[in-house]
Amino acid sequence: MADTAGSDLLHSDLYAKGKTVHNKRIDGPFRRFKWLVMIVTLAIYYITPWIRWDRGAYAPDQAVLVDLANRRFYMFDIEIWPHEFYFVAGLLIMAGIGLFLVTSAVGRAWCGYACPQTVWTDLFQHVDRFFDGDRNARARLDKAPWTAGKTARRLAKWAVYLAIAFWTGGAWIMYFADAPTLTYDFWRGDAAPVAYATVAILTGTTFWLGGFMREQVCIYMCPWPRIQTAMLDEKSLIVTYKDWRGEQRGSLKKAAKNPEAFGDCIDCQLCVAVCPTGIDIREGQQIGCITCGLCIDACDRVMKETGRPRGLIDYATLDQCEAEAAGAPATPAWKALLRPRVFIYFGVWTALGAGLLFALGTRTHTDLTVSPDRNPPFMLLKDGSVRNAYTLRLRNMEARPRDMEVALQGLPAGAVLWTDAVSAENAAPVQVITVPANETKVVRAYVLVPPGTDEDDSEHFSFRLTSLDEQGETDIAETTFAMPEDDE
Ligand code: SF4
Ligand code: SF4
Repeated sequence: MADTAGSDLLHSDLYAKGKTVHNKRIDGPFRRFKWLVMIVTLAIYYITPWIRWDRGAYAPDQAVLVDLANRRFYMFDIEIWPHEFYFVAGLLIMAGIGLFLVTSAVGRAWCGYACPQTVWTDLFQHVDRFFDGDRNARARLDKAPWTAGKTARRLAKWAVYLAIAFWTGGAWIMYFADAPTLTYDFWRGDAAPVAYATVAILTGTTFWLGGFMREQVCIYMCPWPRIQTAMLDEKSLIVTYKDWRGEQRGSLKKAAKNPEAFGDCIDCQLCVAVCPTGIDIREGQQIGCITCGLCIDACDRVMKETGRPRGLIDYATLDQCEAEAAGAPATPAWKALLRPRVFIYFGVWTALGAGLLFALGTRTHTDLTVSPDRNPPFMLLKDGSVRNAYTLRLRNMEARPRDMEVALQGLPAGAVLWTDAVSAENAAPVQVITVPANETKVVRAYVLVPPGTDEDDSEHFSFRLTSLDEQGETDIAETTFAMPEDDE
């Protein structure tokens, strides 16, 4: 018997037929905060690629740009080169720790307010309201037969879904190329095929996931609720129904007749009606709860109208709930933020951020790498001098051409160098090379040590790169000098 019950539970947990959630409009602090987050995040996403940023004649003027062709990432005044990928890795680690920090402090706030699935679902639900009315009207229309009027409404609504989805996909590709140029090319049919494919895929997924799948994504597809659930503990804030205060539920009429027998919940179902995932928070913690707080707005309104204290549904920790159920006064939710785990995550997060900022602020805009030729490792010339060849990569990370001096360091006196652009007759201990703006210049360099140079004196040496401008930035690359084997 127990086995059967368990298997039923298992099946109902793994699969549930999708039902359309018609959530009711509600106003309140949490709803207004959701509006704010939605407007800010969508504005950032759609507008950012159109912000211009003057970086001079040799660099793109798009404020945020992932320039895959030239392997650069631009973000306002910051320009990340491929060899600086650790900045991106650092940012990703910060984002991960930031999620841990937010979860340990305010539970699943990411899911409730800022997750793209939540933001676009919310937006599509407002579109539903605009075309079909609020909860009851939408539910009625859903059940109504397919008349011409219903078909026209549906087509209009889906057209708006599609326009939003297309705009979403279109905005994404703008981060990877100059936005005005790409828009022009896109509509002329001259953009790269990958641009059309990306827009098509993102339009389709936004249309389907935001327009139709909605809470099903949160409940069945997204792994994050499961991970977050494991990260929550009894001191994390969650949205909770205070059953010790609300039960026994009963209508106002019943409660008026027998106040002692009933709690504060008047069983009006408003908290269920406003829930974007369609759950009943009074049944306890559920994976479908994205902690958006709309049920708090709803219940607080009911409590106000019925003259009862707010907070029957509220943000609280399990510890606070336990204390409150035992008779302690309600604790302000912000107190849950003051605990070691939150401070530790915050400390690690800020230390990482400070480290990245320091590295960003102190990095130079020049870079030099050296690879010695291996085959042959050296050339023994007639006069007894020895020549080695190297490939130098001189990087100029400024948006203007720069003269750079390459000098030998650590070789005995008489050692000289020249490049493919400079004849051996003009060999000298120092050569000046012009590196174009925002480029890595590859240079073949030859180093010659005079006859009689001791092998031990020349084995290790360095190339020193110095920019010949007001910055005078330097970079040193160590390498080796190969000499013929001593026969003695
Ligand atoms: S909104 Fe409040 S009073 Fe109404 S059913 Fe929900 S918990 Fe009860
Ligand atoms: S139960 Fe409340 S907090 Fe959870 S998703 Fe529904 S409305 Fe949001």
